Amino acid sequence: MNFVRVALDVPLSTLFDYFLPENFTAVVGQRVLVPFGRQQMVGVVLECLSETDVPAERIKAVQQVLDDVPPLPADLLKLLRFCSDYYQHPLGMTVLAALPARVRSGEPVTLKRALTYELSEAGRALDLAQLPKRKVVQHRILAALQAGPLGAQQVRALSPSAMATLKALLETGWARECAPTSSPEHAKAAGELTQVAFENAHTLTDEQQQAVDPVTRSAGYASFLLYGITGSGKTEVYVHLMHHFLQRSGQVLLLVPEINLTPQLEHYFQSRFPQTELVSLHSGLSEGERTQNWLRAQSGQARIVLGTRLSVFTPLPELGLIIVDEEHDASFKQQDGLRYSARDVAIFRANQRSVPIVLGSATPSLESWHNAHSGRYTLLPLRQRANQQARLPEVRCLNTTTVPLHEGMTPALLAALGERLQRKEQSLVFINRRGHAPVLMCTACGWLSGCPHCAGKLVLHLRDRRLRCHHCGHQQRVPHACPSCGNTDLQPVGIGTQRIEAALQAHFPEARILRVDRDSTRNKGSWAAMRKKIQDDAVDILVGTQMLAKGHDFPNLTLVGVLNPDSALYSSDFRASEKLFAQLSQVAGRAGRADKPGEVLVQTAFPEHPLFRALIAHDYEAWARTLLAEREQAGFPPFVFQALLRAEGKNEGEVYAFMQQAHAAATAVQGEVEVYGVVPAAMPKRANHYLVQLLVQAATRKALQQFLRAWKPQLDALPAQKLRWSLDVDPLDF
Ligand code: ADP
Ligand code: ZN
Ligand code: ZN
Repeated sequence: MNFVRVALDVPLSTLFDYFLPENFTAVVGQRVLVPFGRQQMVGVVLECLSETDVPAERIKAVQQVLDDVPPLPADLLKLLRFCSDYYQHPLGMTVLAALPARVRSGEPVTLKRALTYELSEAGRALDLAQLPKRKVVQHRILAALQAGPLGAQQVRALSPSAMATLKALLETGWARECAPTSSPEHAKAAGELTQVAFENAHTLTDEQQQAVDPVTRSAGYASFLLYGITGSGKTEVYVHLMHHFLQRSGQVLLLVPEINLTPQLEHYFQSRFPQTELVSLHSGLSEGERTQNWLRAQSGQARIVLGTRLSVFTPLPELGLIIVDEEHDASFKQQDGLRYSARDVAIFRANQRSVPIVLGSATPSLESWHNAHSGRYTLLPLRQRANQQARLPEVRCLNTTTVPLHEGMTPALLAALGERLQRKEQSLVFINRRGHAPVLMCTACGWLSGCPHCAGKLVLHLRDRRLRCHHCGHQQRVPHACPSCGNTDLQPVGIGTQRIEAALQAHFPEARILRVDRDSTRNKGSWAAMRKKIQDDAVDILVGTQMLAKGHDFPNLTLVGVLNPDSALYSSDFRASEKLFAQLSQVAGRAGRADKPGEVLVQTAFPEHPLFRALIAHDYEAWARTLLAEREQAGFPPFVFQALLRAEGKNEGEVYAFMQQAHAAATAVQGEVEVYGVVPAAMPKRANHYLVQLLVQAATRKALQQFLRAWKPQLDALPAQKLRWSLDVDPLDF
């Protein structure tokens, strides 16, 4: 008799045994279709057994063994077991969550052959000289196709918008799909058309070379922290490292933050390696694309995998190098389900696969910085700009307590914006709050527009005259009079992006102003269109939230104004000031990237605060030292290890009762951990649910893990019908 032990996507920490009928064969890692309750489910075989404890009359049979996808490799299953254990998440859910939805669904999938494109007869009959010159990308693709058929990767290397243009050419009927031909001459011809191939790489600066060498010399696992100031040429270091490991026929996994993965980035790396198959993996892909890219990585055909956090679980048979860019970025941490940190999982994976890993950042997380100084990671510093001419932006603080503000802006900032308009340079006004104003207030009785379902306030959105809750989505019309006293003089308090946009438009009627926030970029493709507008210089002043802070190169941008950063200085979240420094350094990095020097003006009521001192001096290292000393003194991470239990429910009493029992269970566990009290979350009520939390912490990861292993089964056993709870290991948000 043969049995299999199967991982299923159900919220139970057990695996499930099934009987394998005579005519079936299955191996570990293979997907199977099994009955579960009244449903059929896709599961993954984790063990093959010759006997089971399940009584013969209760055991059910595997219905189908799915062999359209090769079995998941043993190393990936081991990684998922580790994650399930470390993050205290059911193994079945962990394993299934790592698969693309289509592979999880049991629909048949096949690895399509790589598509190749050629000119149709109509396309060949075209005279390129007769076509409009301004369609640069179309021109470039047609010219390349005249030399011979191209694969998707070669098309992608031609321009960030090449795939979209190609689609149009296919629709027009000028190009068509064809059987793959792999003539090296064609590949070479296509490669020559791309802008920057590896051969045209910069000669590395001494610092860059010193960063590359230890990584290429490392045999087996080693972790490196590439700390490089903005403009120091981290990307060039990545490219050289990738080149090295690709040549030794390794696959390279490059993890980037969610918002950075744009067609530009994909195009950039593809153009540096035009002969190498590159796939991207992120949530913006269609299920079909994601599945194909995943299969190409699994088959070893794709040599470079460029992806966001979920791609850390991609099967990579020949993995040779992992790079995590902007390793401090919070988007590497998953905030629901399996609450993993892709950066930390990447470290584990590199170790498991005996390959080097490079974490890169201009403002490393304190965890990584601490690891680099305690010897766990090797520090690779880039302290100079790669391009000697490029200067760091000049940062200044504008004291908001000593001057009158105009709609939240100082006269000095308005003057600086006016200057840029005259010089036809771009400016960015950065404010981390969307909407018109964070709250509406009654001038007579002090009534504030609170959300009826949350502990938060309703944000005023003037454009459509609505009050909106950014936590639960509740919205209502702006009242004509105070609901509490009837007074009709209601005033917006505080500032948001829409208010700044309106104020600037009134102040500079001629300026072309573009607001970039979650409201203005809600529609698919609008953010890409906006980016193009900015790059084409069709914008004078940008008003935006953190969406604008990251990884985008706007060469004509010379001024950044920062409004209202102060709340982070006194936040209850101990990481707030670490995040603020990283964010401001990143926004500052947007200013003056090209030959024009940049200027950053930070409006604050606390110009003497050490954070701003460090920002002005461009001294991350001093700031990190200050913060680490504070954290050590206060007993915060990275000097301790934490886990946070969260619960929420409609009935406040039930939520607290559950948490008190959880607390009692925690204190009863013998272990070297500190168990804190049950407290309301920072946002104590959301969408009529009460949010409550409980923190535990330990001096070592090991002690915390031991404690969690004992505590979690007790939590699972607590009655919790009407509430939801979750355990967050190494939480980032409180
Ligand atoms: P970072 O990612 O560290 O902010 P980039 O990789 O964007 O920096 O590099 C900044 C600029 O310096 C880019 O324009 C890049 O082309 C240039 N650069 C990088 N390395 C070199 C080098 N070795 N010599 C000359 N220019 C370089
Ligand atoms: Zn009132
Ligand atoms: Zn609400």
